[in-house]
Amino acid sequence: MKIVVKFGGSSLASAKQFKKVADIIRADKGRRYVVPSAPGKRNDKDEKVTDLLYQCYDAASQGKSYKKILEKIRDRYEEIIDGLHLNLNLDHQFQIIEENFQAGVGRDYAASRGEYLNGILMAAYLGIEFIDAADVVFFDENGNFLSEETNRELEERLAHTERAVIPGFYGSAKDGSIRTFSRGGSDITGSIVARAIHADLYENWTDVSGFLVADPRIVEDPEVIETITYKELRELSYMGASVLHEDAIFPVRKEGIPIHIRNTNRPQDKGTLIVENTCRKPRHIITGIAGKKGFCSMYIEKAMMNSEVGFGRKVLGVLEEQGISFEHMPSGIDTMTVFIHQTEFMAHEQQVIAGIHRAAAPDFIDLESDLALVAVVGRGMKGSRGTAARVFAALAHARINIKMIDQGSSESNIIVGVRNEDFEEAIRAIYDVFVTTEI
Ligand code: ASP
Repeated sequence: MKIVVKFGGSSLASAKQFKKVADIIRADKGRRYVVPSAPGKRNDKDEKVTDLLYQCYDAASQGKSYKKILEKIRDRYEEIIDGLHLNLNLDHQFQIIEENFQAGVGRDYAASRGEYLNGILMAAYLGIEFIDAADVVFFDENGNFLSEETNRELEERLAHTERAVIPGFYGSAKDGSIRTFSRGGSDITGSIVARAIHADLYENWTDVSGFLVADPRIVEDPEVIETITYKELRELSYMGASVLHEDAIFPVRKEGIPIHIRNTNRPQDKGTLIVENTCRKPRHIITGIAGKKGFCSMYIEKAMMNSEVGFGRKVLGVLEEQGISFEHMPSGIDTMTVFIHQTEFMAHEQQVIAGIHRAAAPDFIDLESDLALVAVVGRGMKGSRGTAARVFAALAHARINIKMIDQGSSESNIIVGVRNEDFEEAIRAIYDVFVTTEI
């Protein structure tokens, strides 16, 4: 077995957490490649090292006092080194970091040092090789990830390396500058390493026992999803469910490698297995519910719209000109409605309205704001009768008015639009019908 293990920030926030991580790695010989994040929060009031690094760099590059923040960062690592009784001295590392901060080498460089140093600590603690991600993960000059170059280099390098620690989150551009993925990007590094070594499994260790059917801030103690497909995960993540970085599925998806979300603090829990496809029946008809607030709708009416070829293109062309992407577009005979992110729309509101009048000459345009979208996702919905009816009945019982309905013919999701103020109640009502009572 070849397993890549990625550990999130809270799994590596202290010496105690490092010990749990080492126990997990040693419990399975297949766990050969380790991708660490930077130390995260030790408790609710704590700060993530990555955030401290950004603060410190901003202060240093603006000529403000930064030494206290740098000390705080150093203390975090020293505490781990002491707790693990490691024979490691970071003087030289911190001297280079400080010089680079003063020279203003870039925020990406600053942020990356969290993972870089944690990687050095982890490699020393496990007694295995450290590979600097800057040598094996590549970006172009605009900061776009170069997947194929990276894959070639990593594949070659790791073919001769039995075990290694490769820090997450960053890599380098051709000019040698350090570049990072967006926040939470160590998940992507784990996935890239898994692809390069043709791993049997990519384990992503975090502080929750898997992907939940619904947001625990909305539904009390929601069930954990045991198995989910990449496609379902993509839909739920897009709609706001967050455990894994959205882009982390792409490298492993190419190879059909499963991702297993596990809890470092509860390794006995099953976690969630993310797969390309599966015959395993989901426990309920739906796999998950997620959603987002903050949309607005633009309703457009025009007599004989149905026979006007190109009407939709003209409307969407105006949005494109303004750089606005749309989410959904249900239509009637002489009407169409476009759902758009409210903040994006508001920045260009009047230009959009004027543009549509000019391009498509509608009879009437109406706007409604403060709407939310709720997505009910599940591979089990395909071909099963009555799922939509149950969603709508749940909302009707909860006295929630539905503003929009969208179900693609893939039948793997149903999206409903509701008012922002009804958002939480809508999710609870749907959860209740499909999971709690299962009527
Ligand atoms: N340390 C980075 C962050 O806080 C990356 C990661 O943890 O994945 O976003």
